[in-house]
Amino acid sequence: MDEPVSYDVDAVRARFPALSHPTSSGRPLVYLDSAASAQKPDVVIEAIDTYLRSQHANVHRGLYELSAQATHLYEQARNRVADFLGASTPDEIVFTRGTTEAINLVAATFPLGPGDEVVVSELEHHSNLVPWQLACARTGAKLVVAPITDEGSLDWLAFRERLSSRTKLVAMAHVSNALGTVLPVADIASEAHRVGAKVLFDGAQGVVHGTVDVKAIGADFYAFSGHKVYGPTGIGALWGRYDLLAALPPYQGGGEMIREVTLEGSTWADPPARFEAGTPAIAEAIGLGVAVQWFTGLGRDAAAAWEAELLAYGTEQLASVDGLRMIGTSPRKAGVMGFVIDGVHGQDLATLLDEQGIAVRVGHHCAQPAMRRMGVTGTVRASIGCYSTIADLDALRDGLRRAVRILR
Ligand code: PMP
Repeated sequence: MDEPVSYDVDAVRARFPALSHPTSSGRPLVYLDSAASAQKPDVVIEAIDTYLRSQHANVHRGLYELSAQATHLYEQARNRVADFLGASTPDEIVFTRGTTEAINLVAATFPLGPGDEVVVSELEHHSNLVPWQLACARTGAKLVVAPITDEGSLDWLAFRERLSSRTKLVAMAHVSNALGTVLPVADIASEAHRVGAKVLFDGAQGVVHGTVDVKAIGADFYAFSGHKVYGPTGIGALWGRYDLLAALPPYQGGGEMIREVTLEGSTWADPPARFEAGTPAIAEAIGLGVAVQWFTGLGRDAAAAWEAELLAYGTEQLASVDGLRMIGTSPRKAGVMGFVIDGVHGQDLATLLDEQGIAVRVGHHCAQPAMRRMGVTGTVRASIGCYSTIADLDALRDGLRRAVRILR
């Protein structure tokens, strides 16, 4: 199959130094684990390098030139993330360690009590399930789970049936990391709002696969991680509607998040500072700002269209592997292919693929309930990024055939 002219994947790949490093076997790296963490383009690496070499100081504190410059770079990153998500104002962007911390922030502060309900789906990553279990245990609210279908889509009627005036929050993935399912986020948001609930989307995978506009979706909160969108680890963001953020109490106490402190008590800064206690991950935030700007420049919809082609091609090629069963076959899917192969253990498959320089993930992908629902304990997962190629998928198909021959 030819690469489409509109998307020059070779030029994209050339921006990612890690992709040109051979593996220890001497074979080229076939990186098919972008859903776990994406590789980094040169611009991100260089921005962090420059910052650490010559621009570092603590932010928001010093009056001297270096601190003012670091503050400017940090706040510029916030502006870039705001643009990336379609936020009304950069003040709606709270930097966090990632998706997990962003969801924990809301779970720890969102007002809930006995009689209230939080609705999640059966396909959630543990990051969008366990924080709600903890919040419900703490507040006496009830966790309600909307089931998924055999193909891994949200069971729409069952979801609607679970909504009521008791529902205070709907917390759902935008895109499932384990099954690849793209959830109908705008419809979920309008259903949630119909019963007066707020809606939070776990966008860890959603931001990577197409343009996200939080206002067009109708979201109230949206969480994502930098490292999945070609930025660094240790940084991510929570977007929240400003009036909602302003109504939440602090998540952690410390420097930077206060208005005034006395020995008797304290008052809080406005968002986003209220939720950014302590010295932030400055270099990482700058790297994230550069990453989202670079990814936007690449064309998020063009990258998503390329990934859709790869997904269709990869799905077809994998179907030709003897005994392979795809887990997650929703008609609306992003570039995640989870599968099992009859009579072959996933760990053994992944090990043999690794010997051929092919990096895939095996296990439950932090979505044990989803795996259980699909009748498996785990899958082998190949996931694609903006730099993935037809050749990567051919290598996977051939590698799997070889592995199956050895293992059976
Ligand atoms: N949700 C989804 C859908 C994910 O894919 C991930 C990462 N695998 C997370 C949440 C958690 O992200 P992080 O570990 O970066 O906080």
